[in-house]
Amino acid sequence: MSENQTYSRLNPFVASVKERHRLSKSGSGKNTQHVTLDISGSGIVYQPGDSLGIYPTNDPHLVEWTIFAMRAKGDELIADKQGELHSLRTYLQKKANITEISRKVLQEVCGRQTNIEKKEALEHLLSEGQKEALKAYLAVHEVWDFLEENIEVHFSPEELCHLMMPLLPRLYSISSAQKVVGDEIHLTVAMLEYETNQTQRKGVCTHYICNLAPLNEKSV
Ligand SMILES: Cc1cc2nc3c(=O)[nH]c(=O)nc-3n(C[C@H](O)[C@H](O)[C@H](O)COP(=O)(O)OP(=O)(O)OC[C@H]3O[C@@H](n4cnc5c(N)ncnc54)[C@H](O)[C@@H]3O)c2cc1C
Repeated sequence: MSENQTYSRLNPFVASVKERHRLSKSGSGKNTQHVTLDISGSGIVYQPGDSLGIYPTNDPHLVEWTIFAMRAKGDELIADKQGELHSLRTYLQKKANITEISRKVLQEVCGRQTNIEKKEALEHLLSEGQKEALKAYLAVHEVWDFLEENIEVHFSPEELCHLMMPLLPRLYSISSAQKVVGDEIHLTVAMLEYETNQTQRKGVCTHYICNLAPLNEKSV
């Protein structure tokens, strides 16, 4: 996909979701959606099969659970890497990966854990030869439930935010031909939903594109 000079990975064009509808039959177990993006004014030129990156926003419910697990209020100020200030709520929505636990968060929680049993369990996961066990543990936790399981550990909101990984864009393959659809991009998105740790989880970006992004507002 080639971009108008003005837009790049560092200065992405913000498109809007024009339409979305489910392709898979309800009850089929799969939730595949046809999503139409409006790219009017972008000057973007693409071919079918090209990929585009979408910057998602975290689910507001997940953000509130994370704020609660951090024992914060949400209005604390957090500086990003460029020194720009955001409220904790906005930072968690737009900047932080709150669905995956970074090694830094894991190590720091382990270091600060005062409950000996929990500390030893984390030390074991972080020790040599426990790669698979660690992977399995991380696969069934998001930041909020990891913090709740380690309620003894305290961080300032900014400290914890700076230990988290950044929220990254996801790639999607373009299924439309520009000659046919003009200023639109059509995507086929497989909504990711699964259960771990007795909790229903949703893929960050697929949930955003298929459910959360407001229609006809520049948001993706
Ligand atoms: C070049 C390219 C093109 C792509 N094109 C498309 C496309 O056209 N359409 C499309 O739908 N996707 C496409 N993808 C995939 C897309 O980029 C995303 O990875 C996908 O949509 C999931 O993103 P998400 O943010 O919803 O999920 P995330 O929040 O990133 O979650 C994904 C993670 O969830 C975890 N997970 C998933 N299932 C389970 C489970 N059962 N149990 C435990 N953990 C689980 C895994 O850790 C996985 O890494 C493409 C990827 C690439 C690289």
